[in-house]
Amino acid sequence: MEKTSLFENLLERLRQTAKIADVSPEVVKILSRPKRIIEFALVFRKDDGSLVVLPAYRVQHNDALGPFKGGVRFHPQVNLDEVKALAFWMTLKGALVDIPMGGGKGGVAIDPNQLSTTELERLSRAYVRGIWQFIGPEVDVPAPDVNTDVRIMAWMVDEYEKLAGHKAPAAFTGKPLELGGSAGREEATGQGGVWVLEALAKKLGLKPQKTSILVQGFGNVGFWFAKLVAEAGFKIVGVADSKGGIILNKNPKSNPPAGGQNSKINLQGLDIERVAEWKAKTGSVVGFPGTKTVSEKEFLSAKTDILVPAALENVIDEEVAQKIKAKIIVEMANGPVTPEGDEILKKRKIISVPDFLANSGGVIVSWLEWAQNKTGYYWEKEEVLAKLKEKIVPAFEKVWQEAKKRKTDLRTAAWVMALEKLAKFV
Ligand code: NAD
Repeated sequence: MEKTSLFENLLERLRQTAKIADVSPEVVKILSRPKRIIEFALVFRKDDGSLVVLPAYRVQHNDALGPFKGGVRFHPQVNLDEVKALAFWMTLKGALVDIPMGGGKGGVAIDPNQLSTTELERLSRAYVRGIWQFIGPEVDVPAPDVNTDVRIMAWMVDEYEKLAGHKAPAAFTGKPLELGGSAGREEATGQGGVWVLEALAKKLGLKPQKTSILVQGFGNVGFWFAKLVAEAGFKIVGVADSKGGIILNKNPKSNPPAGGQNSKINLQGLDIERVAEWKAKTGSVVGFPGTKTVSEKEFLSAKTDILVPAALENVIDEEVAQKIKAKIIVEMANGPVTPEGDEILKKRKIISVPDFLANSGGVIVSWLEWAQNKTGYYWEKEEVLAKLKEKIVPAFEKVWQEAKKRKTDLRTAAWVMALEKLAKFV
């Protein structure tokens, strides 16, 4: 079966939005094509001496607002269509939350979990050798995404600086603190999403203690979102990773005591720190005491007030959208809902907080990291997170008001706002 093109889906959305937004057809033409696509054969050696040649990409979608900006993904399903779509989303994100950054994305089609540490380092450095002439602090600033992290950013910035022949910490974000990373970057995406959800909950009159949440994905975004939303008082009833999902048992006696030091934490829900310890020990969240294991489809359609996809794209399709019990979806992953799925959600009056608003905390703090690197002046974590909150909460408020004004959904409102901003610059 032919898979639908993520990038084509976005172009269709672009054309539809242009009909209702105040933008000229020229803007649509410009945004319909990435400004530059770098596709190359990435070559590196495994520890046993064998040679590996892989398809690798960097897509620079648009830099009207500032340097291209976006993560690098290592995943077996990475392909050019996906990278183009992810780069486009980054353009929209920067415009929507009003930061001076354009949209880019990169990726390598490989499963990094099959590599040793030394192989992973050679792969990361080889990726930079393929793109270094086309990136840099004023040109294109990569960051972490799925299966890439602070350690990989450290190798990448080091390789870039060797090739460029000078220090350039602002060439990458998501670096370790010791190498010019920003305090607060690690939790930024999850924290931003939690603040957006809290703002939405206020509008809808939801009480955190009585609101249940399922989080799909337990990596950087999913873990931090789950941990911080539980600390904000919401009840986490299940989490999932690539090995499966876990749902809290109904009988509270069989649940391990949740809590920890934080007094605000919801004691009825899963103890996220302990789930993380379990995953570190066993390799997955599956099997955590006091929970039952479910498949991906069962997880997405399980009973909950809020569903938070924080793993990969296209998980909520037409079929899943029909079965979802949640009343609200907070899209922490990029593109978790297909266009067909979105139509069903709208018909069923399920509220979706769109990805390029909900998960924009990552790029906001990446921008703050870049700004700190460029000035050489570093802020404390509280200051960084306060600046994140100052950006993301008003962005949600504006999208909410735009949706009310236009009597439309949050995604359409966010698209209109991002396009109208871009139209002034492209
Ligand atoms: P990650 O590699 O740290 O974690 C990904 C998680 O998803 C892992 O726990 C993995 O086990 C899980 N997963 C994979 N397939 C799954 C499946 N079929 N079912 C359930 N879980 C599955 O990646 P991340 O950085 O947390 O990124 C997750 C999503 O958030 C991606 O869509 C990414 O583009 C988006 N995002 C990330 C950032 C960031 O700052 N890292 C910012 C904005 C958006």
